[in-house]
Amino acid sequence: MSDVEATPNPELLDKVINLAKRRGFVFPSAEIYGGFRSTYDYGPLGVLLLRNVKNAWWRSMVQLRDDVVGLDAAILSPPAVWAASGHLATFTDPLVDCKQCNERLREDQIDGICPKCGSRDLTPARAFNLMFKTHAGPIEDDGAVAYLRPETAQGMFTNFLNVQVTTRKKPPFGIAQVGKSFRNEITPQNFVFRTREFEQMEMEYFVPPAESPKWFDYWIDERYNWYQALGIDKSKIRIRHHDPDELSHYSTGTADIEFLFPWGWGELEGVANRTDFDLKAHSAASGTKLEYFDQASNERYTPHVIEPAAGATRAMMAFLLSAYEEDEVGGEVRTVLRLHWRLAPYQVAVLPLSKKPELEAVSREVLTMLQNHFMVDYDVTQSIGKRYRRQDEVGTPFCVTIDFDSLEDNAVTLRDRDTTEQVRVPIAELLGVITNRMN
Ligand code: ATP
Repeated sequence: MSDVEATPNPELLDKVINLAKRRGFVFPSAEIYGGFRSTYDYGPLGVLLLRNVKNAWWRSMVQLRDDVVGLDAAILSPPAVWAASGHLATFTDPLVDCKQCNERLREDQIDGICPKCGSRDLTPARAFNLMFKTHAGPIEDDGAVAYLRPETAQGMFTNFLNVQVTTRKKPPFGIAQVGKSFRNEITPQNFVFRTREFEQMEMEYFVPPAESPKWFDYWIDERYNWYQALGIDKSKIRIRHHDPDELSHYSTGTADIEFLFPWGWGELEGVANRTDFDLKAHSAASGTKLEYFDQASNERYTPHVIEPAAGATRAMMAFLLSAYEEDEVGGEVRTVLRLHWRLAPYQVAVLPLSKKPELEAVSREVLTMLQNHFMVDYDVTQSIGKRYRRQDEVGTPFCVTIDFDSLEDNAVTLRDRDTTEQVRVPIAELLGVITNRMN
């Protein structure tokens, strides 16, 4: 755990937002219509980065384990789910209006002062439910009400029996899901940190009740380490246990994994001990017993649940912020994203030194060979120096340059993003050399 004091760095935030727009990571949504507040579209590089974040999560949570299986549940769901889960009654934020400038604010974020006009003349707080409500089908009556899920978790609870019976998993086992969630946030802010439409990566880990403290600690540790293994520096990440009065309605213990954002510490992920709250609530409301029968002990019980719940879009932003650096190469300032190769939009760029057909032919052969294994960019425009800078700026770990010597010696120049070191590698060995450097 780290005790670094938050040093706000608004300049870094501006630089990263600017880079994200300029290079096609993140665009403001509906921009040609003036934008739609706090919604974003992920461009050609953003979709790769975001997908890599989600894939890295899936790999560590599902692929490399034998006790966690996946799910992709519906986004639309009936009110009964959210009545049982408690969201209809309690998934609210305290909304106040500034009587001077009419700004709508979240009372728990403002210390009694309107941040827009400085007035203390605010309305009393009222509970504002964050769920997006819509209607399924052509008739907009009460019977057609549906909600966009505000978290992916409930899909794992309502499918507990389906998954347990079809996979024959025994507690402790988990169900993992990655997907969109929607919250009608009162004050979306800070780029993609808090938006109304976002992506989550959540896992519900079902355990025998007595084992829940052990697994709570285990998952805090696992998740804290995951961010660091993907390049987030130890000084920029910390674990913060919630005070008892901060806990959600379903939780007996929660620890947030926080990142040092440019404005201070902010949550990346919450690890919660949800006890048997959700399975019991859905059992009672649906009439279907969501329990586990342990044949060894001849006992029937409701598992307790440990939930690591992360934001994919928020994590992507943290990875971008933490990777952004400016250093000096050849007497010039360069911008470099030191992204882990697993997250970088492109792992390799293939750069023919000139547009001469004979060079293009070899370059395209190298491109095809590498595309089988990696996401590869192909760039033939402008000077090689400029092309290196462009790749550095979007975090491409390796550049492969094909020059006229390549036609003679069947070798290429392999350049490393972080050291800018260049080595000559035979084309026949290129794949092996790059693969080795990535491990
Ligand atoms: P916060 O306190 O920041 O509103 P929360 O504690 O309500 O978040 P959870 O319900 O624990 O969030 O959701 C799990 C994760 O989902 C969060 O840690 C965050 O990464 C992500 N998340 C939640 N709300 C948003 C949002 N509006 N925009 C982007 N990501 C979000």
